[in-house]
Amino acid sequence: MWLNGTSELIEHLKRKGAKRVALQFPEGLKRRSATVAAALRDAGFEVILSGDPCYGACDLALDTLTHADVLVHFGHAPVDEQPKVIFEPYAVDFDVAVLENALPFFKGDPVGLVTTVQHVHLIPAMELFLQSNGISCRVAEGGGRTPNRGQVLGCSFAAAKASGADEILFVGTGLFHPIGIALATHARVIALDPLTGSAQEVSGDALMRRRFAVMEKARGAKNVGIIVSTKSGQQRMDLARRLASLTPAAVIVTMREVNPDELLNLGFACYVNTACPRLAYDDQVRFPVPVLSPQEFEILCGVRTWDAYTIDEIV
Ligand code: SF4
Repeated sequence: MWLNGTSELIEHLKRKGAKRVALQFPEGLKRRSATVAAALRDAGFEVILSGDPCYGACDLALDTLTHADVLVHFGHAPVDEQPKVIFEPYAVDFDVAVLENALPFFKGDPVGLVTTVQHVHLIPAMELFLQSNGISCRVAEGGGRTPNRGQVLGCSFAAAKASGADEILFVGTGLFHPIGIALATHARVIALDPLTGSAQEVSGDALMRRRFAVMEKARGAKNVGIIVSTKSGQQRMDLARRLASLTPAAVIVTMREVNPDELLNLGFACYVNTACPRLAYDDQVRFPVPVLSPQEFEILCGVRTWDAYTIDEIV
């Protein structure tokens, strides 16, 4: 969208009085960075590109911004207030008629409708399609980290919860979001991949079984590293302090990138992750020792019951 609309971005930058512009792209869009940088340079801006890995608006290149007047962050919506950052989300279109593949899965209505930031511009068209097929749907406002109606993130399912629906349709790629929605809402969740057209009912049971196994491995660990991210939108020091107070065996560890080699070098018997919640759930197979979510650690410490197990979100 913004490759065609670079002129709008240029106007925006001029209105802000920017002369030096820092650019940041997520991994999937980095290959477009040279083209955008050239267009801005031709328009008279000094351009500095952040080359570090980036997976979300939680990881703004604030160090690069110290050399510029403004940072343009592509591909995501803001997760918090950042006055010197311009967010340029990347819209991915599809034919909403693909929602037809999800219709046989619905058992009643209303159905809650949620999607990821790339597709939020299609929410009105998806609502219309469902309504024209006799399904009334609810699209709720997001939370602080999800500024768009119906938007969910891997660390925030607020819009799914606020829909209050017993059945929720997630439109997007991958299964992490719909599994997270199932665990966060206890609703029936149908996942539709709008690019392949495949639809399926999703449950959190398999993830729960894997997590219980990880917790059992962590039980009785002689020491615990409580990981706190140094990324702009992932820092949860207050939570880490509260978790560390639960046992004298815990030490708070700040990290930028949480990777297996560093966890091995640090040498703790287990870790609790307060950085991006997906790390514990998605990447456990890569880690040398158990990496627990905050809620799982609370259960092991006896301050949360199993019944109160929930997926970790950043609020
Ligand atoms: S914390 Fe994780 S899930 Fe949330 S926006 Fe960042 S990368 Fe995405």
